[in-house]
Amino acid sequence: MKNIVLFGPPGAGKGTQAEVLKEKYQLVHISTGDVFRFNIKNETELGMLAKSYMDKGHLVPDEVTINMLNAEVEKNADANGFIFDGFPRTEAQATALAKLMEEKNSQINAMVALEVDDEVLVGRLLERGKSSGRADDANEEVIRERIAEYYRKTDILKKFYQAQDKYYGVDGVGSIEEITDRLSAVIDTI
Ligand code: AMP
Repeated sequence: MKNIVLFGPPGAGKGTQAEVLKEKYQLVHISTGDVFRFNIKNETELGMLAKSYMDKGHLVPDEVTINMLNAEVEKNADANGFIFDGFPRTEAQATALAKLMEEKNSQINAMVALEVDDEVLVGRLLERGKSSGRADDANEEVIRERIAEYYRKTDILKKFYQAQDKYYGVDGVGSIEEITDRLSAVIDTI
């Protein structure tokens, strides 16, 4: 079982690459952002709660996010492995994920991080906002708040996985294919 955390700031290309890698390696892709958006679309209680944070560019509280992630993993009990995209985003989430994997007699094998400069991220997200329909891509202030939130709460996870020798940084600028090749070079070694 290969379990990979695809990591990086908003706009680094995690979702795009996860779509390619899940096919290539036959892994189940879980994007917590996608699950929240699905709930918003269906006007569930969880969706309404998540939206109040997402619209401001803030993280949804850990307890809510961790419970949701656990449920998504349980839905895929026969998976060959997972690509986690947008999770974990805090140290509490990383600890919860390690515990969940351990309960399954498994583990996170690697955190693979897409490295992209902040100004490139802002440009990419503004461009994506023209067609994504995402409220949080439509406003530069919210985009900058999402990046700030990343540095406040999420960036620290590099250290968390480095301490376990599981952190791999990859240049996230280039064509989709080039970046897939860089990520695959890492995934093939684990
Ligand atoms: P994403 O689709 O990964 O860019 O996530 C969009 C938004 O969903 C984020 O800005 C957060 O508000 C929320 N979100 C997604 N994943 C998480 C998470 N792991 N923890 C907290 N909030 C999250």
